[in-house]
Amino acid sequence: MPRSDFKSKLSKIDWYWYEYDDDGWDTGVEIVRGCPVARRRGAPIVLVRWSVLAAAARLEELLGDVEFLLYAKARKNGKYIVVDEPVVPKQRVSYASVTVEEPIHGTNAVLHRHPSGLASFSDVDDEHINANNDVSILWVDGWVAKVAVKVRLPCGAYELVDARWAPLVVGSIEDEEAAGARAAEEGIKRITVQRWYWWPKERSGR
Ligand SMILES: [Zn+2]
Repeated sequence: MPRSDFKSKLSKIDWYWYEYDDDGWDTGVEIVRGCPVARRRGAPIVLVRWSVLAAAARLEELLGDVEFLLYAKARKNGKYIVVDEPVVPKQRVSYASVTVEEPIHGTNAVLHRHPSGLASFSDVDDEHINANNDVSILWVDGWVAKVAVKVRLPCGAYELVDARWAPLVVGSIEDEEAAGARAAEEGIKRITVQRWYWWPKERSGR
């Protein structure tokens, strides 16, 4: 039955109200909603190497209007988390999707792009991209739109929290640019772009 029919059926039902005995529902099982969150002193701070940003910018320039994804390494460095060493995995991309076809081991940070301009992670992102990484960066319109860090809560569950971020240049910006461009130009060979074309259906005359 189509969902709309189901809804119209519901609206035609005469509902009867009755009061139930609260105690009748006490099964003795306690359901714990969520888990206690440790108070944090501000957000984590992520320093993203300029080479990572340069790789994303170059990929965006080369690919046009599609999503893409690159991996990197995130390491704790004092009170900061540093993200560097961009690498592009084998992937299939379209305007609204990215599928990694061959994972790269040893990385724990991910950057992916939303060509639509949407500046927040989707449920699909959280499940398929962010869950497997410690740091997640969202790339929109040639720049970082959001950085999130996976934090372990006292009950053992993980939560993705918004981080503050800043770019980091080690040595010269030219070297960073060159490293980023190299990663992108080397990596683009592993990207398959799926483009969709739409055209009007032929009139059948029937
Ligand atoms: Zn996404």
